[in-house]
Amino acid sequence: ETLDKGLEKSKTSFFGKLSKVVAGKSKVDDEVLDDLEEVLVSSDVGVNTTLKVIERIEERVSRDKYLGTDELNQILREEIAGLLSETHLGEETEFTIPQDKKPYVIMVVGVNGVGKTTTIGKLAYQFKKQGLNVVLGAADTFRAAAIDQLQVWADRVDVPIVKQSMGSDPASVAFDTLQSAVNQNADVVIIDTAGRLHNKVNLMNELTKVKRVMQKVVEGTPNDVLLVLDGSTGQNAFEQAKQFTAATEVSSLAVTKLDGTAKGGVVIGISDQFKIPVKYIGVGEGIEDLQVFNKYEFVDSFFK
Ligand code: GDP
Repeated sequence: ETLDKGLEKSKTSFFGKLSKVVAGKSKVDDEVLDDLEEVLVSSDVGVNTTLKVIERIEERVSRDKYLGTDELNQILREEIAGLLSETHLGEETEFTIPQDKKPYVIMVVGVNGVGKTTTIGKLAYQFKKQGLNVVLGAADTFRAAAIDQLQVWADRVDVPIVKQSMGSDPASVAFDTLQSAVNQNADVVIIDTAGRLHNKVNLMNELTKVKRVMQKVVEGTPNDVLLVLDGSTGQNAFEQAKQFTAATEVSSLAVTKLDGTAKGGVVIGISDQFKIPVKYIGVGEGIEDLQVFNKYEFVDSFFK
């Protein structure tokens, strides 16, 4: 399975280590809990989330004193799935959008280099594959390269793109994009935005303005504010999530580059801490390397 392949490193490292902690153990003692804590923290699950998991396991084993390996594995799996369930949107496995919203507008935010453009391209590809009409908007007008890169993906997927010259007003690009989408009866609009973090107030003002302009064209948009985070950057990803959620209302997350890291635990930690569902995960550079995040598949893939 592709999910198994994309997460190979995390699987052999993070979850492999987890299984080792409980392997052959007939009861959970302090040593097991310490080892468990160490594996979770070192896999970027995050300290708060780790302590929560440990606490829950402690609570359970204090009730049922002697547990076999299988049972411990099961508890671990349940606790991790439980953490994810508090935030996950549901049990989706397909790239779907609500039928009653047309155009469905996704505003994509995140700092440069995390894989924002790539994720937009992969998403456009998935929606187009389903026969949906997709329009891209190049509202990251701060860097010429951002506009060019999005154009490359638009050509690759063969979807229209709305852009202006570098330095133009992002809100103006967003306005044009939505207007164009309405005119051509498009199903999905995906808008790229600038990812500068050096000035929080600027970021907030810019995103707020882009949103306000969108609402002028299509009421209730953006329907989704998708924050893209690089899963291989661990604590940086947490920090970025903190900053973006402070600047705007983030409704879902895409965690990229999970193929290149052994720290797949970041998905669990971020989802838990920010109470925002992880909707997509990036597991490679190719056009097909984006997956709908499904907590059951995710957890299962590691405990097989
Ligand atoms: P942006 O600056 O946020 O728009 O980032 P890009 O989309 O240009 O991506 C930056 C780099 O990360 C590129 O080389 C991408 O091919 C790479 N990339 C993006 N997503 C993934 C992923 O899921 N896995 C891997 N291995 N590389 C990725």
